[in-house]
Amino acid sequence: MGLYRDQGVVLRTMRFGEADRIITIFAQDRGKLRAVVKGARKTKSRFGARLAPFSCVDVQLYEGRGELHTVSQAELIRSHTSISSIYDAYLCGQVMCEAVDRVLPDQTPNPQLYRLLLAGLCALEGHVAAGVVPHALRCAFLLKLLGVSGVGPQLRACVHCGETTGLCGFAVFDGGVVCSSCRRASDPGVSAKGISLLRMMWQTPLAEMPDVHTGEVDGLVSKALEYYLDGRLRSLSFRSV
Ligand SMILES: [Zn+2]
Repeated sequence: MGLYRDQGVVLRTMRFGEADRIITIFAQDRGKLRAVVKGARKTKSRFGARLAPFSCVDVQLYEGRGELHTVSQAELIRSHTSISSIYDAYLCGQVMCEAVDRVLPDQTPNPQLYRLLLAGLCALEGHVAAGVVPHALRCAFLLKLLGVSGVGPQLRACVHCGETTGLCGFAVFDGGVVCSSCRRASDPGVSAKGISLLRMMWQTPLAEMPDVHTGEVDGLVSKALEYYLDGRLRSLSFRSV
């Protein structure tokens, strides 16, 4: 209860009442929480514009009795606004924020995931500045998110028997590759090229991701995430133009 400060990334915003907005913010110390920004949609709002999706902010919040906190001050640390200037980058940022929102329980700090999200948004901004948003970035982010969530990925050896040769499938439920003897009918196949692509995405920092096509691997990572979340990400179905 009472006033406190925290830093966080705005995951999403929604209209609330006549002039207010509710933001979902992933705060460093408090974890994910929802807060009202009073008068956010008025042109004279002191900090409404700073609290947009992708923004990293230093906020002062008031915690009352209810579940909703209230924002009483906000300073911009990094707006990441350039992400919205390229549609593909914007879509990728949406997927990052939605995935984090879905994975995180309320009010549970998760420093590893926080660092991953910031790294993802900063990487996106860097790629936008360089003029190319790599196709592999979204998939690589989701793969790393699964890793941070404790779902593999086991990409060096068969997730069931440890065999390192004859790897030919991906066990979506176990988050790793499988060999020909362990592969079940429900495990989608993956080529040697696909496996090296997965390994590359897992090892390469997001800011250095090359612009390669993800092909078969994209679907495998989405399926693994879908299984983990017990549902699909809405933003994954938005297609680039
Ligand atoms: Zn095996």
